Amino acid sequence: KKITIQTSTNQYDVTIGEGLRHQVLEYLPKQYSRIFIITDSNVAPLYLHDVINSINGASPVDYAVVPAGEASKSIQIYYDLMSDAIKAGLDRDSLIIALGGGMVGDLAGFVAATFMRGIDFIQMPTTILAHDSSVGGKVAINHDEGKNLIGCFYPPVAVIYDVETLHTLPFKEIRSGYAEIVKHSFIHESSFWSTISQVNLIEAINDTELVNHLLKGIEVKAQIVEQDEYESNIRQFLNFGHTLGHALESEIGYGEITHGEAVAIGMLFAFQVSEKLYEIKLPYEQLINWLKSNQYPLKIQEIATDKLVTRMKRDKKSKSQKITMVLLREVGKPLIEQLDDQTIHLWLGEFLQELK
Ligand code: NAD
Ligand code: ZN
Repeated sequence: KKITIQTSTNQYDVTIGEGLRHQVLEYLPKQYSRIFIITDSNVAPLYLHDVINSINGASPVDYAVVPAGEASKSIQIYYDLMSDAIKAGLDRDSLIIALGGGMVGDLAGFVAATFMRGIDFIQMPTTILAHDSSVGGKVAINHDEGKNLIGCFYPPVAVIYDVETLHTLPFKEIRSGYAEIVKHSFIHESSFWSTISQVNLIEAINDTELVNHLLKGIEVKAQIVEQDEYESNIRQFLNFGHTLGHALESEIGYGEITHGEAVAIGMLFAFQVSEKLYEIKLPYEQLINWLKSNQYPLKIQEIATDKLVTRMKRDKKSKSQKITMVLLREVGKPLIEQLDDQTIHLWLGEFLQELK
């Protein structure tokens, strides 16, 4: 299955299917002088050789394996990869392949975006979460002061999504990825959420169902980024659940909570804020029950509300000391609000108390 994404300057195909890692050559848009694969230490032993084999000598191949984990989205690793790319002899006609989850995609994409002012790159996502991160062209590394503070918009030339690779994902990562599918469902329309709310992640999900959810999620994202590639307005809807989510991630620590688990808690809070602010009723109970039955960690240990509010204020999206949040008027009707920090402090305190 194929979805074509239109960017302001170009377009690229997202191809989803089983065993695509064995057919990489078919999806290369042209002949490259060299191919440099960037992957991580968990993915390399599983899939790196399949990808190298599938290139089948069409171009000379080199690779770099970075340690698995968010800590690799760093200036140091970025610099090391640049050195590797130079040593491997990459030039402006070379290609970088990002083989892995969102961490590898963001990191390798940023290397590609800045190596000799930008060379082609291909995303080969291997996590559910990366249905989100591999589409839309945002690439970045982290700074100690915050996530994704160093980055740019740099679309890939192709996305090759081999769903077979998802079979080796640990349960924690399945949960993490599904949180972004849930997010896509809430900002889209209620029928998508109705489907997802029936899913039980603990029983193995069949591939057809999974592919449908991934396709739908990618379609929702594609529609939004095609209208607002550089995030001047509606692309911000994709940050539903992320204002608190990012704050939790950095406060709790990246190894302790996954991106999606943090976003799940962030979505619950965004529900509550929406309900209070607009005096409406959202399917909060349904969401929290779904999260609980799929074993999302919702009990967060003692974290000071103050610290979270400070982090939420520092979020890239916030303006003039207010906190920017994506809220819902109803399922499928997102909107952006600037909220004052005292209100958020009060409501967040109540929310955290309830979760205990
Ligand atoms: P990740 O890349 O760290 O992968 C999660 C874990 O799964 C890692 O330990 C990884 O080694 C392992 N793994 C990956 N594929 C596997 C497989 N097939 N089998 C077994 N293990 C596998 O994290 P992620 O959740 O994929 O992505 C999170 C990152 O994505 C964050 O850095 C976040 O900032 C970024 N992100 C970016 C965007 C964007 O638009 N660019 C959007 C959302 C998230
Ligand atoms: Zn996210």
